[in-house]
Amino acid sequence: MTVHSKLMVANWKMHGSLAANASLLADVLAGMADVLCRSAVCVPSVYLAQVQALLSGSSIGLGAQDVSAQASGAYTGEVSADMLRDFGVRYCIVGHSERRQNHAESDVLVATKAQRTLAAGITPIVCVGESLQERQAGQTEAVVKRQLAAVIHANGHCISEIVVAYEPVWAIGTGLTATPEQAQQVHAVLRAQLQAATAHADRVSILYGGSMNATNAVELLSQPDVDGGLIGGASLRAEDFLPMLKAASR
Ligand code: PEP
Repeated sequence: MTVHSKLMVANWKMHGSLAANASLLADVLAGMADVLCRSAVCVPSVYLAQVQALLSGSSIGLGAQDVSAQASGAYTGEVSADMLRDFGVRYCIVGHSERRQNHAESDVLVATKAQRTLAAGITPIVCVGESLQERQAGQTEAVVKRQLAAVIHANGHCISEIVVAYEPVWAIGTGLTATPEQAQQVHAVLRAQLQAATAHADRVSILYGGSMNATNAVELLSQPDVDGGLIGGASLRAEDFLPMLKAASR
């Protein structure tokens, strides 16, 4: 359990357009009256300026989906943490499984990205999670602990400033969700690992991600160590996302 209210984060992935973003956020903002939890939207970098303006004056935080492990320089195509900060970015996903898989991001690289964001005053949302093969081989705890250990090692006392997202790879975009018990079991392992690293582990929100939707959110969010959600597909429609924000506001 964290000392903070629940945190619900949308991961738009590579979806959206100027028109679609404006329409989605207009619908979400119109439904925020009963929303008491913390929330954020992680958008493609090219839309940061647009979404910063659309969210201005609202309680929804702006987030990015990735960041360079470098501070600046000859890194064509990359976006630095300081550049994200320029656009009012508060959260940045690091180590999403789609980047670990498709871009061969290592635990050490992910830890460096977390360091860069923290140094820029941005909260990294560090994703950890096992593949189906790893789960079937009984390696779930070892995998998530290894992934988080790299980030703890690189970030020392700043570790209480991160957000962790447990995202079983087999549940992302598949419609398969970890049961509330499966999620709680892994979240408790991550919490214990954080407690061993910092006296302020209760400041760290541990989110669940993987086919979370308006139907399964209530039960997942009722687990003692599930402090919120990282939501892909179901964050792209206000009629799906808003009930989840409300479920996290109870
Ligand atoms: C994600 O992209 O982080 C995610 C959890 O996706 P989905 O909700 O679509 O499974």
